[in-house]
Amino acid sequence: MKFKELNLSGEILLAADELGFDEMTEIQEKSIPLLLEGKDVVGRSNTGTGKTAAFGIPAVESITDADRKTVAVLVMCPTRELAMQAEEEIKKFAKYKNTVKTCAVYGGASMETQIRQLKRGVNIVIGTPGRIMDHIRRKTLKLDFLRTVILDEADEMLNMGFREDIEEILSYVPDDRQTVLFSATMPSEIMAITEKYQRNPEHIKIKSAGRTVELIDQFYFEVPMGRKTDALKLLLAAYTPASSMVFCNTKKMVDELTEELLKSGFHAAGLHGDMKQIQRTQVMNSFKSRNTPILIATDVAARGIDVSGIDAVFNYDIPQDNEYYIHRIGRTGRAGRTGTAYTLISGRKQFYALRNISRYINAEIKEMPLPDKSDVISAKKESIINEIQNAEPLTDRRAYEILDRLAALGTDYREAAARIIGARLKSETENLPDYAARPVSKGRRRGEKTVKVDINIGRSHRIAPNFILGALVDATGMTGKDFGKIDIYDEHTTVEVPESEYDYIIKSTNPMKINGKQVEVKLYKDKGGRNERNSSSGGDERHRRQPKTPFGKSRRREVYTDYIPDRKRRSKKRH
Ligand code: ADP
Ligand code: MG
Repeated sequence: MKFKELNLSGEILLAADELGFDEMTEIQEKSIPLLLEGKDVVGRSNTGTGKTAAFGIPAVESITDADRKTVAVLVMCPTRELAMQAEEEIKKFAKYKNTVKTCAVYGGASMETQIRQLKRGVNIVIGTPGRIMDHIRRKTLKLDFLRTVILDEADEMLNMGFREDIEEILSYVPDDRQTVLFSATMPSEIMAITEKYQRNPEHIKIKSAGRTVELIDQFYFEVPMGRKTDALKLLLAAYTPASSMVFCNTKKMVDELTEELLKSGFHAAGLHGDMKQIQRTQVMNSFKSRNTPILIATDVAARGIDVSGIDAVFNYDIPQDNEYYIHRIGRTGRAGRTGTAYTLISGRKQFYALRNISRYINAEIKEMPLPDKSDVISAKKESIINEIQNAEPLTDRRAYEILDRLAALGTDYREAAARIIGARLKSETENLPDYAARPVSKGRRRGEKTVKVDINIGRSHRIAPNFILGALVDATGMTGKDFGKIDIYDEHTTVEVPESEYDYIIKSTNPMKINGKQVEVKLYKDKGGRNERNSSSGGDERHRRQPKTPFGKSRRREVYTDYIPDRKRRSKKRH
């Protein structure tokens, strides 16, 4: 459906047209008509599906001359970047509608400038919950005439610890408002907000990436550092897919891996951009005709390759971009067939990168133990049995003649068959890497032991908990929920972290910048030289000042770390 088919004012249609917006995206098609009617909406869809226009266009459309001096629409976003981005896009929709005045409010920017803008009279305010709350407290933002409140990326806002702020903000807006919520995931906390603050909301769920991804079983293997090639050999030997693609991030890796696999007797070929066209065509044809069962490729080289019937995709390297993951695994499971995708991860960083992918694509990626050599041997035994059992009966007598002669020479049939099978088993398994060390799984659970890290930045640097949390999330790839209580003091800040992740966090946060300042993250020691373990039981109170957030209230966040967050949340779905 096209934007033109909506009952929108000419000014907005013109602006949309200039932006190159012609066809609506699915979330826009489903939500804009409802939002124009004033309905409450809960929208669930992935990044990049056009949510800003989905709420921005109805917001701009709703503004009239009567709103000249009052805020009619409030948009909450998790970070200042997203707030700035949303404001820019909304401004573009309002290009020909002069009545619309927008203002973005977020932390880390001048309060005075924002206050000046707000005083001039704005009707659409876009901001982060912390700063919005700040303005409400200073009475520089009044919400008495608010008609619509929009929560963008609601799950991320909760992860950032904005729940209290959001609820407080909602308590300031008129009861008969329209409440709109967009989120990539629907954890129970969001359902709770929805129930508490929305009136008969319409639920909209878009599966964008889900289209192909849903038919694909996705697994990951934790591999000890430096053992990915070994792991891949074992996997290929254990699963023997008739046709599979292996993805690497670099051309060099493609070359090295191809060579390694060939050396171990796998029938593999590499494909990347540095190869001559004729070579690439040969490789592709051989792969398509199934003469080469294993194709090792970079993302770029594989772009546009349309081969049906690929049984498995292996991510040797974690893709550098979430969208790449979707493209890669979409090679299997085409045309309604099911497929399997396996990702190899080594180390915490890759673990978190994959967890983020799982969140992004809104699908579960299950952990699987790596097969070891004995597993592969068992699998080979089974396949030999199957092969012999299902073989066509022999029509010529030559094999029997050999067996009879061997028997006459003293080697009976059983022994003869055993030697042949034994030789085959040996040749198929002798090059397999042997490895005993199965990686230990990260068993981070609720109520797990925590330690505190100390960051040398504090209240005197005008720092807020979400700045600290944002920097930690950026540096580690972990989510806001992986971190516990944040206590801000004058000159430093302590953050509760899971003990099992302590080493990883220290490694990935040095160096790290918060608000432009280079900071140091280290183990927190109170004056007695102790770290507070399980700090709910308290530390040395004499040396502990009452922690203060910018609003003088202590913010408590439960240390809560589940493995792949979506799994649990999805099972709590209602409706
Ligand atoms: P989301 O918030 O869902 O992640 P965005 O609102 O940021 O997605 O939109 C992603 C990109 O798609 C933006 O560059 C936006 O301008 C563009 N876009 C959104 N809707 C349309 C559309 N109907 N036609 C063309 N481009 C669009
Ligand atoms: Mg968005």
